[in-house]
Amino acid sequence: MTIQQRTLVMKFGGTSVGSLDALRNVIAIVKKAHSAGDRVVVVSSAFSKVTDALIESAQAATTVDGNLNVFQQTLKMLQERHSQALLTLAPQEVGLVQPEMDDLLAGFSNLVQAIAVLGEATPRAMDSVVGLGERLAVRVIAAALRANGVPAAAVDATRVIVSDDQYQSAVPQMEATCKKTHAVLDPLLDAGSVAVVTGFIAATPQGFPTTLGRGGSDYSAAILAVALAANEVWIWTDVDGVMTADPRLAPDAHTLTALSYREVSELAYFGAKVLHPKTIRPVVEAGITLRVLNTFNPEHPGTYITDNHNGAESDTSIIKAVTAIRGVQLITVEGRGMLGVPGVAARIFSAVATTGATVPLITEASSEQSLCFAVPADMTRAVLDVLEESLAREVERRNIDRIWASEEVVIVTVVCPNMRNKLGIAGKVFSAIGDSGVNVLAIAHGSSEVSISLVVSAADLQTTIGALHHLTNGRKESNPDKV
Ligand code: ADP
Ligand code: ASP
Ligand code: MG
Repeated sequence: MTIQQRTLVMKFGGTSVGSLDALRNVIAIVKKAHSAGDRVVVVSSAFSKVTDALIESAQAATTVDGNLNVFQQTLKMLQERHSQALLTLAPQEVGLVQPEMDDLLAGFSNLVQAIAVLGEATPRAMDSVVGLGERLAVRVIAAALRANGVPAAAVDATRVIVSDDQYQSAVPQMEATCKKTHAVLDPLLDAGSVAVVTGFIAATPQGFPTTLGRGGSDYSAAILAVALAANEVWIWTDVDGVMTADPRLAPDAHTLTALSYREVSELAYFGAKVLHPKTIRPVVEAGITLRVLNTFNPEHPGTYITDNHNGAESDTSIIKAVTAIRGVQLITVEGRGMLGVPGVAARIFSAVATTGATVPLITEASSEQSLCFAVPADMTRAVLDVLEESLAREVERRNIDRIWASEEVVIVTVVCPNMRNKLGIAGKVFSAIGDSGVNVLAIAHGSSEVSISLVVSAADLQTTIGALHHLTNGRKESNPDKV
């Protein structure tokens, strides 16, 4: 490796590899980086919608009559899409790569049939099924690169990323991962090849396949970048970078040129799907620069994330961005005697933890004696059940009067740079909400002092985002009287 050579990890999301045209863009992007002399590791997601279809196939097979129709449709779709991409983009590679893909598809058939016989899909079995999309994708991409004159090899991350056995949400073991990553990828990179590695999947030390959680290919890129001490991670997606809001909710959202790690962490944690929240910490700790770029508009500079950005936008905007987590419910534990019960909060959260539910927000104590927190709506029943069981004695003694769940709500978070040094941000945020007539159900300040979260009814999502997006820079530029 020469001094000037950079190591780049480039991750392409599902839409970025989801069509022939998209794949052609991917080939051009990778080819450009490779011919500039960089050591390039590509991390790929499954083709768009493939992971959902795999999950549905396995779930349908668990029904009493072992429904295999969904599986059969999925199998056909997988065969068609991957074979067509291979045939079109790398016709000379079909003889070599098609048999490998057929083997993977045969393995998928066996697994789903076993699930149908057993009538259940354990998390471990699910992880073996759902990683198939990435395994197919990398074979097509590596073949297409070779067909375009770029030496490339497909690598299953089960050979390089070692994780614990928390199936469906596995945690990497970095020491073992570093060793294996170097052992497998260095020879390829040293020989001038591009390594095309599956996102999303890993394996336990015993070799059982695991997954890193939905949307986890971003995290895979960060893990590999840290293991290889890469210079940069480029997340290639379907929008021009991290924007002031989800463009599907705020059509006038615009790209943020630069963000600090803290700001982007807050955005990712509070629902900006463009980056998986677990991606950021490993790259921060290793001081690796992160960029978010658009596969469909590769000339756009996208968003640059580091702690050294010049903060140009921070100086002029009231808020930097607004984001939302949908599909949550607020759980309230209330009772006038509650404060007298020793360790009640610890008991509540220990009980919630046993369900595996994540708690994205705990609201500030209000004058009422209650404790209120958000959980994903599909976990609400389980959370209420464990709370009722573990607090039964307090309920009987009337120290706790009621444990209840709200309707479905959304958590809307505004990310504000320099909140500590700027006066009146909260006031402006609440005036904007007040003017729009939305009722705020709960409030929480972000722990890292760059955000404020508000809980509003699901029906008010669009209005709330619209009202708050007015406070971002873009609106200020286009409508200076507003702020
Ligand atoms: P990929 O498949 O490339 O990983 P994702 O669908 O996971 O892509 O993430 C990209 C999507 O994230 C965008 O299409 C956009 O709709 C959504 N999104 C949500 N919030 C933001 C935001 N603040 N900035 C940009 N995109 C956002
Ligand atoms: N294919 C996986 C998913 O859909 C991982 C990813 O795309 O990041 O969740
Ligand atoms: Mg994603």
